[in-house]
Amino acid sequence: MRNALTAGHEYPDDDCSELRIKLAEQHGVRTEQVLVTPGSTGMLSLLCQILLGPGRNAVTSAQSFIVYGMLVRASGARLIETALLRDGFDLEAILGAINAETRLVFLANPNNPTGTLLEAGEIEKFLAAVPEHVIVVLDEAYYEYAAHFAALRKAEYSRSLEYVRRGARVVVVRTFSKVHGLAGLRIGYGMGPPELLGYCARMAHTYGVSSVAQVGALAAMADQAHIKQTVADNGAQAQILTRGLEDLGWRVVPTWANFVYCEIGSEASQFAALMREDGIAIRPLAAWGAPKCIRVTVGKAEQNQRFLDAARRVKSGVI
Ligand SMILES: *Cc1c(COP(=O)(O)O)cnc(C)c1O
Repeated sequence: MRNALTAGHEYPDDDCSELRIKLAEQHGVRTEQVLVTPGSTGMLSLLCQILLGPGRNAVTSAQSFIVYGMLVRASGARLIETALLRDGFDLEAILGAINAETRLVFLANPNNPTGTLLEAGEIEKFLAAVPEHVIVVLDEAYYEYAAHFAALRKAEYSRSLEYVRRGARVVVVRTFSKVHGLAGLRIGYGMGPPELLGYCARMAHTYGVSSVAQVGALAAMADQAHIKQTVADNGAQAQILTRGLEDLGWRVVPTWANFVYCEIGSEASQFAALMREDGIAIRPLAAWGAPKCIRVTVGKAEQNQRFLDAARRVKSGVI
């Protein structure tokens, strides 16, 4: 990335050719089935611009990624949210909510902020039942973490790339913001039907993905040791956080991502404010319709310990 900065006066490759070729190779899809965007939210934004508008709608679950609603409404469309089932997506309810005006369904898998997983079998059954006029977005921002947990727990996580390969009406969305640790560079990608991605590419901001982000992504893809270490550390620390929160008597939803979702039995915004005074930022989830729940990012061992110590003090009224 430092080397790329020295050529910062030159425009980037607008097609992200080298990165697309590498991504297509790695995922076993064709280059035309890959579009690189400024973050994966860039991909989500293009899909909303292309497929939505006044009179149309998109369907997702309540308590999912906050950006879906922002992008859907920005396009002039309406977001339909179904109720949670066991803290996660209710695919039956989502099928029931799809109507003639629906163009997009967003499945965050794992879900942010509840951390729940939809297994491959459930998704497959769902896709078979979704009507032809709807594109299903499989948002796999936490793919590597979930794949790690799935191997440990003997679950089958995702066959999403098979759907892309067979030309299904899905767009798989991945990002360099999470396991690769490049959130500030803004680079992610979608994989799906070439025709649809072509329309998205025409609507994309010209030179929207910087040259520094492109070389950073290429280097990150090659750094398998970093990915392996990160998912292993996250798995171990998620378990410590989960046990620590359960020891406080709180309900923790088993996570498949790099955060934990926890019901604390009292007003979470107040808890978060007290924690903030202690220098610890966590997410109270009132705006998600869960006023007694928090989302805690899995940090380094010492950060997680500091969080648990502070949480214990706040809970016992010491702070
Ligand atoms: C973090 C996250 C993203 C990634 O957003 P970027 O724009 O790639 O940084 C996408 N989807 C979900 C559900 C997320 O939690």
